[in-house]
Amino acid sequence: MSNTIIDVFEFCRRAQQLEGSAAVADFSRLTAELADKRGNLRWSVKGGQHASGKPQLLVQVDGEVHLMCQRCLTAYALPVASESVLVATRDDAEADQTEILLNDDSIDVIVVTEPLDLLAVVEDEVLLALPVSPRHAVCPDGAALAAVNDKAESPFAVLKKLK
Ligand SMILES: [Zn+2]
Repeated sequence: MSNTIIDVFEFCRRAQQLEGSAAVADFSRLTAELADKRGNLRWSVKGGQHASGKPQLLVQVDGEVHLMCQRCLTAYALPVASESVLVATRDDAEADQTEILLNDDSIDVIVVTEPLDLLAVVEDEVLLALPVSPRHAVCPDGAALAAVNDKAESPFAVLKKLK
């Protein structure tokens, strides 16, 4: 059993903390969404107590993943710097009550019924941080094209004149 698999309630009660570094390639659900498997993710998970008294996990992930730009279809790097708070409950009823009690959309209430693999939590965290429609802010090919267009007699300028 990997040492990243924990009893969440025990981990939070003892205010334990785990951190590590993992290769992006080790996360199969994540790599399915990426352009390639390069890179590493540093992660840390701190157990503790929410102000409400409920057990909470503070999950932080830093690193970089490579996404496929949907506009120019080349890979680009997306920095990941994510932090979130998960509040652990024991069943759906408690989760529903806790959602109402906390009334805070920035907190994820989760139901924990068995030992939890922190690496799966880390992977979820990164998956949630991915853009729905990944694309460069400015595509490199587009930039190159614009530079060519600036030249007086580029093939594109000639084409424009023909129209
Ligand atoms: Zn692009």
